[in-house]
Amino acid sequence: MSIAELSDGGTPSAEHPLGSRFAAMRVANLRDGAPGRELRLDRLQRIGAMVKGSRDAIIEAVDADFSGRAREETLLAEIFTTLSTVRHARKNLGKWMRPRRRALDLAFKPASARLIPQPLGVVGVISPWNYPLLMALSPLVGAVAAGNRAMVKPSEITPRTSALLGEMIQAHFAADEIAVVQGGRDIGEAFSRLPFDHLLYTGSTNVGRKIMAAAAENLTPVTLELGGKSPAIIGGDADMAAAVASIVRGKLFNAGQTCVAPDYILVARDELEQFVERTLAQANKFYPSIEGNADYSAIVNQAQFDRLQTMLGQAEDQGARILTAGTGAGRKMPLTLLLDTKDAMAVRREEIFGPLLPVIPYDDISDAISHVQKGDRPLALYIYSRDQNAIDRVLGETISGGAVVNDCLIHAGVEDLPFGGVGASGMGHYHGREGFETFSKLKPVMYQSRWNAMWLLNPPYGKRAKAMINLLLKR
Ligand code: NAD
Repeated sequence: MSIAELSDGGTPSAEHPLGSRFAAMRVANLRDGAPGRELRLDRLQRIGAMVKGSRDAIIEAVDADFSGRAREETLLAEIFTTLSTVRHARKNLGKWMRPRRRALDLAFKPASARLIPQPLGVVGVISPWNYPLLMALSPLVGAVAAGNRAMVKPSEITPRTSALLGEMIQAHFAADEIAVVQGGRDIGEAFSRLPFDHLLYTGSTNVGRKIMAAAAENLTPVTLELGGKSPAIIGGDADMAAAVASIVRGKLFNAGQTCVAPDYILVARDELEQFVERTLAQANKFYPSIEGNADYSAIVNQAQFDRLQTMLGQAEDQGARILTAGTGAGRKMPLTLLLDTKDAMAVRREEIFGPLLPVIPYDDISDAISHVQKGDRPLALYIYSRDQNAIDRVLGETISGGAVVNDCLIHAGVEDLPFGGVGASGMGHYHGREGFETFSKLKPVMYQSRWNAMWLLNPPYGKRAKAMINLLLKR
């Protein structure tokens, strides 16, 4: 289908600035064909170089966008992670690109079969604000490793970082190699209607539904990296000090604005009091003050801050007990534990995406499991326990995008583990080899041999063909 033909029905036409940029990429893709390993390595190297070269500018831009983002968090979660994504792809690219031999049944021998990875063509990436650089560049690395051209639509909520990303890409890539498109929801909507060969969207579940509907018009395959409520289950026999330190570290990283942050805690009833006391103490130890503390990040904007305050106020009005670790300042919110919450409260129904943490007691591990099973399938699940039987039960009886035993968040930084949700938390995977495959067509190819015996099955089906078929059916 040509771009011009797509001007009706909402898809941006070739005259539309988005449509024309897309069309230029498609033309370049057809003109140049699949890039070889050297060009892909070079493109990956350019992504790494631009991040290294703009390190301070990135830290400054993210800090400005958040009105306070801990420098160490940006170094770890935006820069270190992006560079390790690039490093992993460069190291493994040769292996990923190689055709893969597939086994054949005796009936097809002496033919042979292979899977040949091919770039899909032009890939779209739509990214959110919470890790504004990583969420744009990490999928891009997979798309580029697989040999695609790509267009990226970063978040309008972090304008400084999105603008910087646009400048960096423009300085390191031709406009028909990688392009960054700036804009908010309207541009996002138009972007999602482009006839991409694959579209990877990271963001909220509600918008994810719209993206999938828009992509369906062009039969564009989607990877949806969505949100949700990721539980952390504290087993009765857990190493409580280690569990608490891990939860506070994970929950307060970027002030809870992490898709895989523990959204709520399920704790054995006997341990509830101990857990609450230790958690508040640990938060005060990690962050002795909130005001003026450069280690603690702010809530990204007033709208997000107000959303969290409304959630909190509603829970309090409906009878929840609220316990805070310290006093907030400006848009910096302290860790806030919520006890005696009810299913109907927004804090129990909606993704929190901030430093509020409902703590829910359970009597038996089966109750904790059934609590998780009743909700949407989460993006991550964390189980803190020393009881292998309990760990196996939780892992075996719940489905989540990923899981960590005795820690949280860390799996998201491991490039060799595929990353992606399930059900309401998303579909498909990226990172590492799975990311390469998401953005590739793994084309099955058979190579017939001149010594093949297909002639034995030639019509008209006489004795010889019937004997052959009987032989095949007997195996
Ligand atoms: P969002 O859905 O509001 O926006 C994400 C992106 O989509 C932005 O670039 C935005 O401009 C664009 N957009 C908004 N409406 C659109 C529309 N109708 N059509 C096309 N594009 C549109 O999400 P957000 O608030 O930026 O991010 C927070 C959410 O992202 C949370 O739910 C969080 O869990 C999720 N998230 C998920 C992951 C993951 O890997 N699964 C990672 C980070 C964040």
